Amino acid sequence: MHELHEREVLEKLRELNAKRVLIQTPEGLKKEAQYLADFLEKNGIESLISGDINYGACDPADREAKMLGCDALIHLGHSYMALNLEVPMIFIPAFAKVDVVKALSKNLGEIKKLGKKIALVTTVQHIRELNKAKEFLEKEGFEVKVGKGDGRVSFPGQVLGCNFSAAKVEAEGVLFIGAGYFHPVGVALATKKPTLAINPYSGDAIWVDKEAERFIRKRWAQIAKAYDAKKFGVITSTKKGQLRLGEARKIVKLLKEHGKDAQLIVMNHISYQALEGFDFDAYVVVACPRVPIDDVENWRKPVLTPRELEILLGLREDYEFDEITG
Ligand code: SF4
Repeated sequence: MHELHEREVLEKLRELNAKRVLIQTPEGLKKEAQYLADFLEKNGIESLISGDINYGACDPADREAKMLGCDALIHLGHSYMALNLEVPMIFIPAFAKVDVVKALSKNLGEIKKLGKKIALVTTVQHIRELNKAKEFLEKEGFEVKVGKGDGRVSFPGQVLGCNFSAAKVEAEGVLFIGAGYFHPVGVALATKKPTLAINPYSGDAIWVDKEAERFIRKRWAQIAKAYDAKKFGVITSTKKGQLRLGEARKIVKLLKEHGKDAQLIVMNHISYQALEGFDFDAYVVVACPRVPIDDVENWRKPVLTPRELEILLGLREDYEFDEITG
């Protein structure tokens, strides 16, 4: 179980004079959502749990909360994102209880290969450990930079799958703390600097450069598959933090200027299954950058990010990761 600080939540809800709330949760925190709902109900607050899986702070169910007559929305697992909301929202990030310093100390030899001046980043799960990690590395003689990031992130040093602004500081290399490949590959591509990923759970250290190369090769193959496409579906999402309507319209215009047919498509949850039956040769997703990448195996038509489309149209040479800035 993650820490929920349920008493603090209750206090905030009482300040809001909330009588009914909607709780949103990612897949991994369903049990915590149930526990919280039970706790709040026992304290006189009617609690509804959203059964829709939530992937990020970019997808608040505030419209649904309002429609259901809820006085507040509780969002588990992610951190604050500045969005225009219809009901007050309480964020409860899920912080991991794992000692990051142990993994750093085990991998000091590898970290030294990054150089003396290093950028330090992580995901929200480990953000509370970042200062400890910084102090440890400074004692070991490193100059550690923790970037503030732009308005889309909540904490200095935090990266999202769609935003690596906190990693873009003056440094020789980047040290990422966390599990999984997507974030460190994004960091390596966004900064174009040597990137070392340290997994605090397993204690393993991985140089991300090879992964990044493999990633780019796969994406070039996807771009190549779209070379002969004439009709493009350009998709954006109605999820508040993924709606990039202005950029999607620019992409439609760009395609038309290059002699292609293009149609804007708007949907909430983007999946190929929901698009089957449309007569498009290829798609461009102008929403969460993870959608055309993570889910590519399930698409029977080529699916690109806006930056990849620019390569296809000959407007860009170098591969660039799609980011949503704030
Ligand atoms: Fe995460 Fe995608 Fe939302 Fe960015 S847009 S916060 S990567 S789910």
